[in-house]
Order: sequence, then structure tokens, then C-alpha cells
Amino acid sequence: MRDKRFYDFVHRQIPVFITLSLFPGLGYLFLGWLNDIFTPAFVWYLLVIAGSIWGTYLYRDFDFDTMSDYRRNRWYRHCTWFFYTFFLLWALIFLVYVGQDAAKLHYIAIFTEIGASVVASSLLSSDRRLYRPTIFILMVPLIVYFFLIGEWYGYVLALFACTLTWVLLYAANSSHQLLMQATHQATHDALTGLHNRQFFIEHLQKRMNTLAESGQFSFLLLIDLDHFKTVNDSLGHDVGDQLLQNVVLRLRQRVPDGCVIARLGGDEFIITGRNFAERKVCERDALEVSEQLIARLKEPYVIDQHHLYISASIGVSIISGLSINANSFIKEADIAMYEVKAKGRDGVFMFNEEMSDRVDKHLEIERLLHFALANQEITLHYQPQLDREGRVIGAESLVRWNNPELGPISPTQFIPIAEQTGLIIELGNHILETGFKTLRAWHDEGIELDQFSINISMRQFTHHTFVVQVEKLVQRYLGADLIHKLIFEITESIVAEDINRVILVMNQLKAYGIRFSMDDFGTGYSSLSNLNKLPLDEVKIDRSFVNALALNEGDRAMVVTILNMASILKLNIVAEGVETAEQLDFLLRHDCRIFQGYFYSEPLPKEGFEHFYRNRKPGLQAARPG
Ligand code: C2E
Ligand code: CA
Ligand code: CA
Repeated sequence: MRDKRFYDFVHRQIPVFITLSLFPGLGYLFLGWLNDIFTPAFVWYLLVIAGSIWGTYLYRDFDFDTMSDYRRNRWYRHCTWFFYTFFLLWALIFLVYVGQDAAKLHYIAIFTEIGASVVASSLLSSDRRLYRPTIFILMVPLIVYFFLIGEWYGYVLALFACTLTWVLLYAANSSHQLLMQATHQATHDALTGLHNRQFFIEHLQKRMNTLAESGQFSFLLLIDLDHFKTVNDSLGHDVGDQLLQNVVLRLRQRVPDGCVIARLGGDEFIITGRNFAERKVCERDALEVSEQLIARLKEPYVIDQHHLYISASIGVSIISGLSINANSFIKEADIAMYEVKAKGRDGVFMFNEEMSDRVDKHLEIERLLHFALANQEITLHYQPQLDREGRVIGAESLVRWNNPELGPISPTQFIPIAEQTGLIIELGNHILETGFKTLRAWHDEGIELDQFSINISMRQFTHHTFVVQVEKLVQRYLGADLIHKLIFEITESIVAEDINRVILVMNQLKAYGIRFSMDDFGTGYSSLSNLNKLPLDEVKIDRSFVNALALNEGDRAMVVTILNMASILKLNIVAEGVETAEQLDFLLRHDCRIFQGYFYSEPLPKEGFEHFYRNRKPGLQAARPG
């Protein structure tokens, strides 16, 4: 396929030809005037001027980035005729001047013809259909002329001219091949032989220009293999490479005619579909093609005696001529593809505006979160935890972010972003430090709690500085008397990490006196055996179960099971999200020990918690506090 460089090359030759014809042409005009053949020379020169105007027009008409396929092909066809015409004109002037041997003009004509052939073989080397006929147009009359001299030197010259024709063709062929090779290398991926990113962006731009003209639609599929890195890491890059080649083979088989496939890099591929008159039809076809591709890619692979399975996540965006930027469509497909990844991989999503708003919001949060700590927008709230007698025996610290632009943002929104960006380390340290200070201050003011819980994000927990950082802060703020009040809440997702390392870190901190609680228990994917392996002290029943107590027999059974299991494993148990007297009643009857939820109090600012603590009168549990 021809790329931008090809057309640029041809485009650049146009002014060279015009210059090479207009100026030497003047010399011919002058010679014609000197030797009484002015009229034909003049007519010829007028033709050259007309051709030059045509050429200038062609030169100005070219703009690769905005041309549709149709317009570009037409332009190139015109260029081809332009070049033929110009060389025909040079063959013509040769025929006129070569007969003038009395005036010795035939020497000049012969030299011109050879010169023009050399020019043709070097400047038209981009296209066989250009240089081959042109070299013949120029050289054949010369060969015939030499032959017709009828003397021995004429035959020798004819033979030389034949040889020269061959050499010129050979040279042009070689340059042509080099150019093709260079173009191929610059536009293809070496491993899979597919087009590369650079080519694809050009292709997409051309495609958009075509769609803009026809008012049609097409689609873009961004395909990312799921967990390809695992194959590479566990079986080596050799197997990884072969797998990619196999994947490409299957893509090629399954993609309908008229689609273009490229490799964007790594395990990412991109495909443009056919053109459709209606958007709806285009969308339907995009989803159908994607489903077929996924199904085909998921069939097992056998590589070096390994049986491999791989799935793919596909993001779809619909292309039309309306956008100016090819990259924007790739970005849309990328957003849709990440949506698939976020929803558990192995599937297709079509981009929509709502996705893009979410991404914008995400980026905005990410940007502003960087300044949140320095601008003191991050604070902690504390939610009371009460025992069976209704005494306040603990607190869970919950982070709050209030931004002047965005307003209050939920930790469920910004904590995952902080984890992705790595900001959680700094943020987590700040939360630890603020929490420790509060615990110390409360102790000094006579607010005695049995436990003080802090949520620890997985990324923070597994970071290599975590233990050292905790030790440093404990020494600064807590000391031996308060450290045993600390509980770190971790979530079940932690078992997805290297479980031995997790246990190691937990034990290091436990040796220090810190306890651990399993947060949101029952919602994640931890098994009982994992739960048993981890050195836990407490389990928190997720609020979704507590919430559903009144509605659902299954949830009631789940809560009872968790409570029984906790007592067998000698774990403390906290019910979170207790909102009603009925829920509390049920939990009390089933021997739950610690309660937390709106029934007693929402998470409170530091002073609010102090007020709650001092004014709370232990009493009948199931009665709403006054
Ligand atoms: P979580 O650890 O499960 O925290 C409990 C969440 O439930 C809190 O939401 C709390 O306000 C809310 N809640 C408490 N009682 C009730 C109730 O009776 N009914 C209902 N419907 N909700 C109740 P919040 O503060 O928005 O925190 C959400 C999540 O954000 C937390 O869930 C935790 O996973 C994360 N998070 C909060 N603070 C931190 C933090 O300092 N560090 C880390 N790493 N994560 C945090
Ligand atoms: Ca928690
Ligand atoms: Ca929780």
C-alpha cells in the first residue's frame, strides 16, 4: 500500500521537472531562432509553458492530510499523465532538432535525449508504471536514429544506446526496490508483518477524509490481549512472540474483507472496518465482528508443547468524517477498552459520551489530588464503635477530601485513583500521622478507647517503606502504651498479592503490637483457608449483609455463619453499617460484640467525636440514642 512518503516523493518531483524544462527550453528557443526553425521551437515552448501551468496546478492541489482516497487517486493519475506528457515533449523536440545536422543541432538533440532519460530513471523511480514507459519513449527514437545512420558507427551507437537503456532501467529498478523496502520497514511491524502505528494513523486520517466526503461511517476496534504479560513472564519472550504471531494469523482469518489491521505495540492491535451508510448498521457490525474475533482468539493455542489460552478486551469507537483528529478515535476506543478491563476483561464495549465524562472526571480528580495534601484539603473523620452495653469503645478513621472546585469527593472515588497513581503512599502516611496524633491527643484528654482502626490500602501495605514508616510514626506519636490500641483494616483483595509476603509484613507489625482486621468481609474472593492463614484479630461484616438482614433469609444465614466462624476462630467481630434497631437486635441476639453505623452515629469530625464520646450514656441497646 502506498503511504505518505510515496506521494510526497512524487509531489516533490513536479517543480523539479518544471524547472528542468522551462530553462533549458529557452536555450532551444534561442537555437531555433538562430537556425531558422523558430516556429516549431516556439510552438513546442508554448506547450512546455502550458504543461508547466498544469504542473503548478497539480503541485498546489496536493494535501495528503485532507485528501480522500478518491481525490488522491485522481490526483496521482493526473500526475502520471503530466509526467508522460513532459517526456513526450522532450522526445518531440529531439525529433525536430535531430534532423538539423547541417547546423550541428543533432549533437545537442542527442545529448538532451540521453540527459532526459537519466533524469527520468532517477526521479521517477518511485513507480514502475512511470519510469518504464518514459525511458522507452525517450530512448527508442534515439536507438532508431542511430540505426538509420546506416554506417558502422551508427550500429555501434545503437548498440550502446540499447545498453544504456538497460542500465537506466536497472538503476531505476534498484532505486525502486530500495524505496519499497524502506517504505515497508517504516510502515510495518517486524514481528507480525502487520502495519505499524505510524502507518495506521495515516491510514485512519485518509479514511476519515473519505468518510467526510461520503457521509458514511466505519468502526475502529482496539484489541488488547488479557494477561499477555503473564505468558511473557512465565514462558519467556520466545513463546510470547509466537503467541502474538498466532493471534495475528487468527485476526487475519477472521477479519472481513476491506478491514485494515495494525499492531499498535506490545499486545495491542487495531482494526478499521468497512464503510457503512448508517451508524446503527455500523455499530451492529462492529459488535458482531468483535464477538467473532474474541471467540476465535479464545480457542486454545499449542506453542512449544504449551497449551495456552488467552482472551481479549476490545474497545470500539465509531469513525466518521466529523472529527479532525485521527488520534481522538483511537483515544475513544482506548477508553472503551479500559472499561472492558475494569469490568473484568474478556469482552467488548462501545465508546459513549458518558465514558468520556467519567474519564474527564477521573483525570480532574487525579490532577487536583496532587495538590490536596499541600492545600490541606484532606481531613479525617471518626466513626464511633460501640459494645453490647452501648459504650464507645473504638473509632474507625475515614478520610475526607473537600476540594474548592469539585466539592466533597468520596474516598471510594479518590482512593482507587490515589492507588493507581502511587499517591496513596504519601496520602496513606498522612492518614497514619493524623490518626496517630488524634489517638495521642484523645488519650491525653481522657478519651480512652480500646481500639482505633485505620484503613490501609493494599498498595500502601505492600510498599517496601510501609513497615519502616509505621515504626517511625509510632515512635514519634504513640509509644508502648498506645500502640496496642491500633487496628489496621485490610481488605480481602490482599489475598491476591503474594500471600507469604503479606503474612510476613503482618507478623512484623504484630510483633510491634498492632492488630489486624479484615474489612468488608464476605464481599471479596477470600476463602476460609486464606482467612485462617492470615494472623487476624478481627473481622468486619460488610454493611451490605447488615443492610439486607430484614429482607433476605440468605443474608441472615450468611451473617450467622460469619459470627459463628469468628467465635470458633477466636476473632473479634464488628458489624458495620448498622442503621436500624431491628438490625442491632438481630446482631445482639447472635452474639455480635461490636457495632458501628448510622444507628449510633455517622463518621464525625474530631471535635464531633469528642462530643459524642462525652455525652453518650450507656443504656439499653436497642433504644435509639438521645
Ligand atoms: P469502609 O472501610 O467499609 O468504610 C465504611 C464506609 O461505610 C464509610 O464510607 C462510612 O461512612 C460508611 N458507613 C458507616 N456507617 C454506615 C451506615 O450505617 N450505613 C451506610 N450506608 N454507610 C455507613 P466512606 O467514609 O465513604 O468510605 C468508603 C470507603 O473508602 C471505606 O470503606 C474504605 O474502603 C475507603 N476509605 C475510607 N477512608 C480511608 C482511608 O483513610 N484509607 C484508605 N485506604 N481507605 C479509606
Ligand atoms: Ca474500613
Ligand atoms: Ca467496610
